[in-house]
Amino acid sequence: MTNRQITVAELPKGALKPEHFTLSEAEMPTPGAGEVLLRVILMSIDAANRSWLQGATYRAAVRQGDAMPTYAICEVVESKSDRLETGDIVASEATWSDYITAPAHKVQKMPKVSPLSHLISLYGIAGKTAYHGLMSIGQPEPGQTVLVSAAAGSVGGFVGQIAKALGCRVVGIAGGPEKCAWVKQTLGFHECIDYRADGLFKAIRAACPEGVDIYFDNVGGEILETALNLMNERGRVVCCGAISQYQSTAPTGPRNLPGAVVVKRLRMEGFIVTDFVAEDAKAVRALQALTDAGHITVTEDIVEGLENAPHALIGLLNGDNKGKRMVRVSADPS
Ligand code: NDP
Repeated sequence: MTNRQITVAELPKGALKPEHFTLSEAEMPTPGAGEVLLRVILMSIDAANRSWLQGATYRAAVRQGDAMPTYAICEVVESKSDRLETGDIVASEATWSDYITAPAHKVQKMPKVSPLSHLISLYGIAGKTAYHGLMSIGQPEPGQTVLVSAAAGSVGGFVGQIAKALGCRVVGIAGGPEKCAWVKQTLGFHECIDYRADGLFKAIRAACPEGVDIYFDNVGGEILETALNLMNERGRVVCCGAISQYQSTAPTGPRNLPGAVVVKRLRMEGFIVTDFVAEDAKAVRALQALTDAGHITVTEDIVEGLENAPHALIGLLNGDNKGKRMVRVSADPS
C-alpha cells in the first residue's frame, strides 16, 4: 500500500497558490504501541488553515516541508491500543494524507452518524463554532437583529439559521448577488447584502432598520468597521475570525476603535471554539433538535480527492464555497 501526502512546498506571502503545495508518495506509516493507523475519510477545509501558514496562532505555525495539518474524520484500520478497535470512526488532528498514525488517547471516537460528513459540518467545528459564539457571546433575544458576515460559508450559514429559529431578524453579508439570493432562499435569512457592491453602509442600514444588536464577525477589516458604525447601544460583536486579512501582506483593522465601542457601550469578544468544549454535548443536542425541527438546512460543499485539497482551500479563500467545504479522501465505510 502506498500513502500519498501533501506538504507545504513554500510558505505563501499574499495569495495562496497551488505551487505552495507538493503531492508526493510517502512511507506507509506504522502504528507504535498505544497508536492507531487511520484511513482518512474526510478532511475539513477551513479558513483558519490559511492563517496557520501565516504564523503562530492558537496553534504552532506550519513550516516549509511540513505535511499540511487538518482536522479529519477517519476509520481505524489497525489498532495497537485497548482504547480503539479496527472499524471505529474517529475525529483526529491529521495531515493532508491518505493514512496517518496517531496516539489513541489523542483521537476522539465518534458515533457512526449518516452521512459521516455531518461530523464535520453540523456536529463539527462549523456547527459548534456557530452555536457557542452566538449563544455564549452574542446572547440573542427574540426580536433582536443579528448581522453575520461570510453568511454563505459554513459558520455564518449556521449562525443565521440558529438566530432565526430563536426569533431574531437575520441579515447576512456575502459576496455577489447569486450567493446573496442563495442565502435568502436556501438558508432562509431575511436579507443578505452583497459586500462587493457599492454602498455597504447604506445597504446594511436599510436591511437593519432597527439597528444591529449582534454582529457575528467572520471577516474583520472594512466590513467590521462598517458594522461597528451601525451597532445599537449595548450591542455585542462576536469576533469569530478575520478571513479578509489572512492573505493580506498589510492587514488593516477597523479605524473606529475604541470610539464606537466606548460611545455605544459595545461588548466585543473573541473566542476559539475549544473554549466551550465543556458545553459541546449541549451544542450537539441543540443543533440536532433544530435540524430535526426543520430550522437548519445542512449545506455541504464536498471536493473529491486528496489531490484537490490545495484547490479546495484556495477556492474557499476566494469564496467558491457554499456551506461547509471539505475534501473526500476515501469512501465512508459501508
Ligand atoms: P467559510 O465556509 O465561511 O468560507 C469562507 C468564506 O469567507 C468564503 O466563502 C467567502 O465568501 C468569505 N470571504 C473570503 N474572503 C473574504 C473577504 N475578503 N471579505 C469578506 N468575506 C470573505 O469558512 P470557515 O467556516 O472556515 O470560516 C469562517 C470564519 O470563521 C473564518 O474567519 C474562520 O477563521 C472562523 N472560524 C473561527 C473559529 C473559532 O474557533 N473562532 C472556528 C472556525 C472558523 P464570500 O463569497 O461571501 O466572500
